[in-house]
Amino acid sequence: VKDDSSTNTDRMEPIVDRAREIIPGGAQTGLRAQAYDTGDVAFESASGATLTTVAGEQYADYHLGFGPIILGHAHEDVDAAARAAIDDGVLYGAGTTPLEVEVAERLVDLVPSVEMVNFCNSGSEATYHAIRLARAATGNEKVLKFEGCYHGWHDYVDVSVYPPANRIGERYPESDGMLSAAVKNTLVAPFNDPDAVEEIIRDHSNDLAAVILEPVPHSVGCLHPRTEFLETLREVTEVHGVPLIFDEVISGFRHSPHGIQGEVNVTPDLTCVAKALGNGYPVAAVGGRSDLLAQAGGDNESGVVISGTYSGSLPGLAAARETIDTIVAEDVQAYLTDLGDRYRDGLADLLEDHGVDGRVVGHRSIFSVQFGVRGEPHTYEDVLGLDEDRFHAFASGMRERGHFFTPNPYKRHHLSAAHDETHLESYLDAADAVLAEL
Ligand code: PMP
Repeated sequence: VKDDSSTNTDRMEPIVDRAREIIPGGAQTGLRAQAYDTGDVAFESASGATLTTVAGEQYADYHLGFGPIILGHAHEDVDAAARAAIDDGVLYGAGTTPLEVEVAERLVDLVPSVEMVNFCNSGSEATYHAIRLARAATGNEKVLKFEGCYHGWHDYVDVSVYPPANRIGERYPESDGMLSAAVKNTLVAPFNDPDAVEEIIRDHSNDLAAVILEPVPHSVGCLHPRTEFLETLREVTEVHGVPLIFDEVISGFRHSPHGIQGEVNVTPDLTCVAKALGNGYPVAAVGGRSDLLAQAGGDNESGVVISGTYSGSLPGLAAARETIDTIVAEDVQAYLTDLGDRYRDGLADLLEDHGVDGRVVGHRSIFSVQFGVRGEPHTYEDVLGLDEDRFHAFASGMRERGHFFTPNPYKRHHLSAAHDETHLESYLDAADAVLAEL
């Protein structure tokens, strides 16, 4: 879907060159640089399912800003709601607002674990707050997380997200500059292994503050949780009084207005939501058991500080209210689940037709093609052996044909309500051609 008539490649180079000089890596965050091959690209506008570069090249967008854009880019009603909030002033910083109460009420009504809510601006803030609440409640310091799960950039959790094969089972810091004491207090376990997790929780029942997981880890494409794993987690954490945190930053409002917790019938103590909550606006929340959240009420002698000048800023909340209402009213997930199934089935058929070794994984509006591996993945280790070069070649062939998703083989495609039959057909035609060449 390239629009060659408006191609203006002369504009791209100076912007990208200047960015490389004054912005580390030439883009906000290294991952964002990697999200488009070498990172030498500048985008200028987006509408519906289409993303446009400063050179006028248009792509069908499956990246969707790493997932938040559930209703499509520049969604008219969401943006109108945000604009109306802007007209009333973006930030008051005192007291509450009707909007804040309205969005909090929706979270309480929709998400099973949520009795009270605190708003913030990003998924990382939400997981940070959740862990602080859990540490305060238990008086313990250690946090258990799982290999292959990402919970944000802060020191408490940026451990063993993508450990190399020879570092599995260790606490692997993902960044230089992390506090070793924080890393030491972050325990890691394999996903989907009920026995391993039960043993760790039992061994650490006196110093464990929280267990945190993506109930469906999408940071490695998609791992489906075994029922027994989630149920064991819930039982054992309950027995030992350890708060269970569901990080639904990707899954919340993308897969269901009730989160994965609404699908699996396991209710955590705390839940983090962000991304699809606001269709791209910086709004996030930590919600959960009222006794845990109430610690942040500011009225106990030794309460928990949850702060942030921009937390609960009004355009974000207005976007969230409109996004939630649209998702619920239009049953967006039913549409996206059906569309997602058709992408997955179409891709799986193409892999088979072309005799390409690989698999298609995913859930509802998310899918990933993983080359060189077969069978349903259950753990981070099951994802490790995938053929990265092949995925790069696939992503680059698809990009040349106007379909954009990150060439990072561990990431995923996202769909939005703006994607339709036409996108599906065009994507599968392109994939047919690219796979024939691989
Ligand atoms: N948790 C999960 C599951 C995520 O995918 C992400 C972001 N990719 C985060 C937390 C962190 O969110 P943010 O980037 O908004 O800080």
